[in-house]
Amino acid sequence: MASGDTERTGNVIVISGPSGVGKSTICHRLCDGLPAEFSVSVTTRKARPNEQHDRDYRYVTPEQFGQLKDGGDLLEWAEVYGHFYGTPLRAVKEAVGEGRAIILEIDIKGCMQVRQKMPEAIAFFILPPNSEEQARRILSRNTDAKDVIEQRLAKADGEIRFANESGCYDYFVVNDDIDDTVEQIKKLIAAKN
Ligand code: 5GP
Repeated sequence: MASGDTERTGNVIVISGPSGVGKSTICHRLCDGLPAEFSVSVTTRKARPNEQHDRDYRYVTPEQFGQLKDGGDLLEWAEVYGHFYGTPLRAVKEAVGEGRAIILEIDIKGCMQVRQKMPEAIAFFILPPNSEEQARRILSRNTDAKDVIEQRLAKADGEIRFANESGCYDYFVVNDDIDDTVEQIKKLIAAKN
C-alpha cells in the first residue's frame, strides 16, 4: 500500500519485543484503552491452550499460509521460531481507510516490511526490565516446551541488538510496570497525532 493511500490516516501501531516481555497484554490493554483494534495474524503454529482461533491468531496450515502469501493477502510475513506468521492486509487497509487505529504485534522482520510500505506507522519495541524477570514471565506462562522456552530466551539479546540497529523503531519502552507502560505508550501515540 502506498503511503498516499493512508491520507485519512488511522494509526498503524506496531508492538514488537522479545518473548515474555508482555506484548500481548500491552496490545490488549491498548485496544481496551484506545479506539483501536487488534490485528489478528495468521500463523502455522499450533494454538496454545489459552488461545482462541480468530481472537489471538487465525491458525492455518502451511498450504493455506502459502496461498495467502502468494495471493498478496498479507501486508507482511516472517518465519519466527520455525513457524510462519503474517498480517492480513485487508483488516489493516480497512482500519486505515476508515480512520481507525490498528495494533500489530509482529516481529522485527515484519516491522521492517511495514515501515517500507507505511512509513507513517508508529513502532514500539518493548524491553524486559531484566533477563531474570523475562525468564520468570515465560516460565509462569507455562505453555511452551522447555526447549522452546530456552530457544526464545537465547534469542532475546540478539533481537534487542537487531531492533536497535534496524532503525525501525520510534520508541523503546521498558515494561517494568504494565500500567505505566500502557500509559506511556498511549501518551506517545497521542503526541504523534
Ligand atoms: P508467539 O508464538 O509467541 O505468539 O509469537 C512469536 C513471535 O512472532 C513474536 O515475536 C510475535 O511478535 C511474532 N508475530 C506474531 N504475529 C506476527 C505476524 O503477523 N507477523 C510477524 N512478522 N511476526 C508475528
